[in-house]
Order: sequence, then structure tokens, then C-alpha cells
Amino acid sequence: MLGSPSAWDTARIQLENAVRHLGINDGLHDLLRTPRRSITVSVPLVRDDGQLLVLSGYRVQHNLARGPAKGGIRYHPSTDLDEVRALAMWMTWKCALMGIPYGGAKGGIAVDPRLLSHSERERMTRRYAAELVPLIGPEKDIPAPDVGTDEQTMAWIMDTYSTHTGYTATGVVTGKPLSVGGSAGRAGATSRGVQLATFAALAERGLDPYDVTVAVQGFGKVGALAAQYLHDAGCRVVAVSDVKGGVHNPQGLNPAALINHIRRGADSVVGYPGTDTITNAELLELDVDVLVPAAMEGVITAHNADRVRARIIVEGANGPVSADADPILEGNGIMVIPDILANGGGVAVSYFEWVQDIQAYFWTEDEVNDRLCAIMQRAYGEVSTLAAEQGVSLRTAAHIIGVDRVAEAHRTRGLYP
Ligand code: NAD
Repeated sequence: MLGSPSAWDTARIQLENAVRHLGINDGLHDLLRTPRRSITVSVPLVRDDGQLLVLSGYRVQHNLARGPAKGGIRYHPSTDLDEVRALAMWMTWKCALMGIPYGGAKGGIAVDPRLLSHSERERMTRRYAAELVPLIGPEKDIPAPDVGTDEQTMAWIMDTYSTHTGYTATGVVTGKPLSVGGSAGRAGATSRGVQLATFAALAERGLDPYDVTVAVQGFGKVGALAAQYLHDAGCRVVAVSDVKGGVHNPQGLNPAALINHIRRGADSVVGYPGTDTITNAELLELDVDVLVPAAMEGVITAHNADRVRARIIVEGANGPVSADADPILEGNGIMVIPDILANGGGVAVSYFEWVQDIQAYFWTEDEVNDRLCAIMQRAYGEVSTLAAEQGVSLRTAAHIIGVDRVAEAHRTRGLYP
């Protein structure tokens, strides 16, 4: 959005805010801000028609102080190094906040995967993974799905890495299919965490889930199941959208039926019977109790923040609210459950998947969901308590906790040499 801070600007402003509250000195601030490793790779792809296309791929390991790097891989046309750096930094604070022994990373390729065939996507993924082989590994850096990637993408990366190393390394990625070391409950984990965070916020605000209306932007891996879980738990989901636009029905939608509609081959939620078509901009401004942006970063900025009428925003996506929008939303009394808390359920269960892979011992879905619930409730409680104690927003409180844990790891480890 013209004039609004980029994702990287937003991430740095959020860090500065936490650093100020924590009284961290300039040197350590610099260390925390600067990505540990950033790599750009060329990804040559021979299209099905024989044409050679050279794409740009990225992987940024933002911080490794608390453990191996962890973060998703995104295929999207607007992916660039700055976006990946921001997403990697957020992963660092998120893992620390969720109490998971990982550092933060992110990766991606600047490409629209919908324009590629299945075999083109496989070749592109394998070539990108091959370029990353020296950098990734179960003890080094563990990718996962993000926008435009899925379980199949992770299986290809796992297979490529395993072929290069000469043994099957299931723990090199998470979000894999169950048949190759995936975890029960991983596919719905981010969305389940969004639902748990939403319910914690509703309880704090004294709202009964059965009286609550919800709009969800993004009907992908996170948004579709978040809509379904919120619906199943009693909320009225009145609008959802994808990149092509949104659908609205004030009486309520049936997310499971919409998911089936997409599974049966529809390329968008738009046009679903019994709904009105709305734009993504209109969805963000609907008069609902809960708004779940679960698509891309920077969709709520100073340009539209004043028109947001939701009482609670639950950030299913990473960075959907840019730094210039936060004070406006706060001024209007809108509660924002920040991304590093709201969508932290995904990395929590990715961690469980990695633990299961390393032990070669797998848990039931109930065990996974119970542990996810415990982590989400603990993190939510810590953030909410600190926000109340210090009189700061939930975002600032979440960053203070995450940044403090990473800073403490740096102080304890000391600096080499
Ligand atoms: P996805 O590719 O499965 O789905 C993305 C959805 O957003 C799709 O419905 C797509 O049509 C829609 N979309 C894309 N561009 C849009 C735009 N400009 N406007 C409106 N809609 C748009 O991706 P996902 O995995 O669901 O990720 C969504 C968000 O959640 C991202 O910010 C991602 O970083 C974050 N996230 C994902 C996970 C995970 O486990 N997948 C975990 C934590 C956070």
C-alpha cells in the first residue's frame, strides 16, 4: 500500500518498541535486528513447453540463539528478500513466545504457483531445495508450508534433501503428509490455535461465542479451517474471501460446505450459492465482532484502519496490520491478537512433528491437540497478564516476551569469538 510501512519496516518498528520497553542497548538491538544469514538463489526451471524460466528464491535465518532455524516457505509473486526477512524475524519472536526451542527463518520463491503445472512445481521445488541443502537440516533449519505451498511441497523437499544426504531425514521439514512422518493434527494446527486465541479474547471481553459474528480474509490452509473451527464452536461466520474476492451472508455461512465446494474444483469462494459477492476491502470493514485476516501482510494500514469496525482482530496471517495502523486501531478500542501469538499454533505443532520424527515415535491427534491447547493458553495468559501489568497492547506485550527470551539467550551464550 502506497506510503504505508513495508512488512520489514513494520517488523523493525515492532522490535524497536519492545527494545525500548526492555531497555536493551544499541549493540544488542543491532544484533537482534540483523538477520544471521540471508541467501538468494537462482531457481532455473524448464517449463513443460521447453522454455527456460529463471526464478529467484530466498532463505533467511534471522536468529539461531535459541535453537535451529524454523519457518515456512512461500510461493507468491510479490515475495522478495525484504518480505522474507520480516517473516523470518517474526518467526524468531514467535518461537520464543511460544516457548519452543527454535530460532526464526523464512523462505520463498517469487512465483505464482497457480500458473505452473504439478510437474513444474515439483521441478522448481526440488531445484530450490537442492540449493538449500547446505543450509537446512533437522538440526539446522526446518522449513514448513506457508502461502502457496503445501504438504506435497514439503514431501518433495524432504525427498530431495534425503537423496542428497543419503538417508531418509523426515525431520528436515514439518507439515509433511502423514505417510512420510507428518504429525496428526498439523494440518489444522494454526487454525485451531486461531480459534483458541479467539475464544480466550472473547472470554476476556465477556462475549458469548454464540452471539459472535466473524469475517475471515483468506480461505487457504489457515483461513478455511479457522472459519470452520469457529463455526463449529458456535460463532456465526458471515464472510470469507480469497484472492479473487469474498462472499457474505449475514445469516451465516457453512465453512465446511465452502471447503467442499473448493475441493470439488471451484477456483474461488466467489459465486457460492446463497451469498452476496463482496471485495476484500469490504470484508475488512464489515461490522462484525471478530475479524480474522488470514491471507497476506499489510492489508490493514493507516489508509483503512479507521474504517475497521470489528471489535477484535485475530491475526491468522503474519503481519496483516502494518505499524501505522496499530495506533489507530488501539485508539478506536479494537483489540488486536498479534500474529506471533494468534497463529503460533502452527509452529507449536510443527515442533511436535519434529520431536516425533526425531524420536520416531508418534502421538495421537488428541495428545497433539491437548498439548497445543496447553501451549496456546500459557502463551495467551502470559501476554495478556504482561499487557495488563505494563499498560501496553497485546502486540507490544507479545514482542516484549519474545524479544526478551532471545536477548537473554544471546547474553547467556556470549559472543564468539
Ligand atoms: P494459503 O496459500 O494456503 O492461503 C492463502 C489464502 O489467501 C488463499 O485463499 C488466497 O487466495 C488468499 N489470498 C492471497 N492473496 C490475497 C490477497 N491479496 N487478498 C486476499 N486474499 C488473498 O496460505 P496459508 O498457509 O493459509 O497462509 C496464510 C497466512 O497465514 C500467511 O500470512 C502465512 O504466513 C500465515 N501463517 C500460515 C501458517 C501455516 O501453518 N500455513 C502458520 C502461521 C501463519
